[in-house]
Amino acid sequence: MNWLTNYVRPTIKALVRRDRPDVPENLWIHCPSCERMIFHRDLDANQDVCSHCDHHFRVGPEFRFKALFDEGSWTRIELPKAPVDPLKFRDRKRYSERLREAQSKTGQSDAIEAAHGRIAGLPAVIAVMNFEFMAGSMGVALGEGLLAAARLAVLQEAAFVVVTASGGARMQEGALSLMQMPRSTIAVEEVKEAGLPYITILTDPTTGGVTASFAMLGDIAIAEPGARIGFAGRRVIEQTIRESLPEDFQTSEHLLEHGMIDMVVHRFELRATLARILGLLMRPHGAAADDAEQSRLLALSADDASEVAIDSADRQAVGKAGDELHQ
Ligand SMILES: [Zn+2]
Repeated sequence: MNWLTNYVRPTIKALVRRDRPDVPENLWIHCPSCERMIFHRDLDANQDVCSHCDHHFRVGPEFRFKALFDEGSWTRIELPKAPVDPLKFRDRKRYSERLREAQSKTGQSDAIEAAHGRIAGLPAVIAVMNFEFMAGSMGVALGEGLLAAARLAVLQEAAFVVVTASGGARMQEGALSLMQMPRSTIAVEEVKEAGLPYITILTDPTTGGVTASFAMLGDIAIAEPGARIGFAGRRVIEQTIRESLPEDFQTSEHLLEHGMIDMVVHRFELRATLARILGLLMRPHGAAADDAEQSRLLALSADDASEVAIDSADRQAVGKAGDELHQ
């Protein structure tokens, strides 16, 4: 505690520091998997997938809505407001301050966003977790948002699709964040009880309380390639069981091999896969579809699947969407 640490060091730090995660001049993006540099427009045109090694970069809610819904068919849902900082929590910073920072960074009130629209003509509500917002952590707002989105799906007799990306429960909300595990489970159960499909798309990373609740309850669980999906971290498990774990432990592929998820789907194929699944699962609610209706729906789903197979035009559209996102 002297003038050197109090004055000189912070000044030097301020001179040296560069806050540059979103600097637009940063035209080249480093692929964390193959270590190559990718030109940002190439990455946008390729749906944020590395063209060298197929690494799937993390993408946000807006990207998912544009990529998964039929073009121009979707509208965002306004999600309920939750009490802000109920515990008046403070670590190195106040929780309310952290929230404000995340809100100004993302332009959203919390780590979940939802929209309703159509996928290959079928009604759907999609909720997407935003990892950019405090690591997609699950607090009261996220629980409220998920519940509201699920209830809208029931009201609209729509499929409920959740795209997860989360570090787990939000520690700044203590037990209140843990209470969102049963709450989100109830939300999902309401959709299932209504006989509507609940599909989860697990993306990198999906961990902690989110994995332990709604993420693993999908009627069909899809994961993006190479996503890290698990409950506790690798180091914690290794130290607890005193054994070393396989290299691919907690990856989508490992989970698929061990029956924890149903399929690993490349980002380019996600929309077509969703369209196919919904086409097969969604029939007129409340009554068994008669033969004619059933065959019409199956034919429709086959049409849709070929229609939505990502062709070059579709990719360009998504690329354009990516451009808009990064401007
Ligand atoms: Zn790569």
